[in-house]
Amino acid sequence: MSYEEVKRKEHALHLKEDRIKYIICHAEVNAILNKNAVNVKNCSLYVALFPCNECAKVIIQSGIKEIIYVSDKHGHKKPTIAAKRMFDAVGIKHRQYTPKNKKIVIDFSEIDGHDVNQIPSTPVENDEIDVKQDV
Ligand SMILES: [Zn+2]
Repeated sequence: MSYEEVKRKEHALHLKEDRIKYIICHAEVNAILNKNAVNVKNCSLYVALFPCNECAKVIIQSGIKEIIYVSDKHGHKKPTIAAKRMFDAVGIKHRQYTPKNKKIVIDFSEIDGHDVNQIPSTPVENDEIDVKQDV
């Protein structure tokens, strides 16, 4: 459950803000669990903040090989220090990305959501493609 989903349901759950952190999934875990691919082995993960130790465990188990982050503002905190040590121990690269532009504008007027030819296909692993040719 994402932070936003919890916030929307906060009233129904009768949770106080300090307790929400115990039931949310961070964006990294949400991205891995809800990926639109067979798996994320050898993939790169782009994140705004350097992942915490809890996300690092999932990232390592998923097979992701590189982390590209924008901010390391929690770099002095134990969860981030632990995450860096875990990534270094298993050889997951991590590097900071400094955007050249402060904004990205997506012009949705160029996209026709009803035209399936504009939607990219779901990626699959090559060895899982069942190629049968009529002979
Ligand atoms: Zn996290």
